[in-house]
Amino acid sequence: MFNLETPCSDTVAAATMASEIYEMARKRDAVILAHNYQIPEIQDLADYVGDSLGLSQQAAASSAKLIVFCGVHFMAETAAILCPDKRVLIPDLDAGCSLAASINIEQLRNWKAEHPNAVVVSYVNTTAEIKAESDYCCTSGNALKIVQSIPEDKEILFLPDQFLGSWVQKLTARKNMHIWMGECHVHAMVPPKRIDESLAEHPQAELLIHPECGCLTPYLDRVVRQNGSSNLKVTSTEGMIRRASESSASEFVVATEIGILHRLKKENPSKTFYPIESEMSCRYMKMITMEKLHRALKEDVFHVTVEEEIARKARTAIDRMVSIY
Ligand code: SF4
Repeated sequence: MFNLETPCSDTVAAATMASEIYEMARKRDAVILAHNYQIPEIQDLADYVGDSLGLSQQAAASSAKLIVFCGVHFMAETAAILCPDKRVLIPDLDAGCSLAASINIEQLRNWKAEHPNAVVVSYVNTTAEIKAESDYCCTSGNALKIVQSIPEDKEILFLPDQFLGSWVQKLTARKNMHIWMGECHVHAMVPPKRIDESLAEHPQAELLIHPECGCLTPYLDRVVRQNGSSNLKVTSTEGMIRRASESSASEFVVATEIGILHRLKKENPSKTFYPIESEMSCRYMKMITMEKLHRALKEDVFHVTVEEEIARKARTAIDRMVSIY
């Protein structure tokens, strides 16, 4: 029996807890999905670790009756929408997202009213209600392809991340794309000067930078001009995982939430990874602990549901996200 208030610091207790989690997951026919930003212990026992798109695809493809989502609330909602016949649990209901909270449904409806013919493209970091009012959902991995798939004469409302929106706009040179000024508190915290500082500190390293990062904006022209030939690569979290294994570089500076360093190091043990900022930790992602995951499986909490009409409307936008990659 574990005390939920006490961190599991003892190795034996942690191993026992992990084996109980495995056993409960097996008995309950559960699949454990973990985002790349989760703590190492959760990543290590998950059935699948990935980004929002990968986790959505795994949820949709899984035959398990129960999905335990170790990530933040909008991700569990997305799984619930894609898998109406499955039960979806999140170990902590307070695991939210500052980016998803940067636009609400009234704001989106007012914005749409100002641009009645526009196509709405929502980043996956949005609530189910926002997705239901959107034409397309996207991730950082396929935002460019989704925008490119929309006829050039169509106005686009892109939300809620201003930095991802600016990146896509720069790559497409699209003039009729309006961008919501939302941001993630973790990715917005890095000052632009850290890019050149990091490259000076680690001159042999490649810099892998997530397009949600605010520090990228002054470098957009440079990155586009160099067309990927420099040691500065803009890519999604799954893109970072791929790039780290394919690149001949042996050192990388990583500009995204620090949780991804665990997977990068685990999958590339001969390479070295440095965070661009060691403070880039998402307090919402870190709310999911082994103790809470244990409790979720034991007590069947916390059930994530989406009202049927909202889920029906949101599914179309999410299906487009999953199919365009
Ligand atoms: S890192 Fe930012 S975008 Fe990702 S879950 Fe945390 S607050 Fe949301």
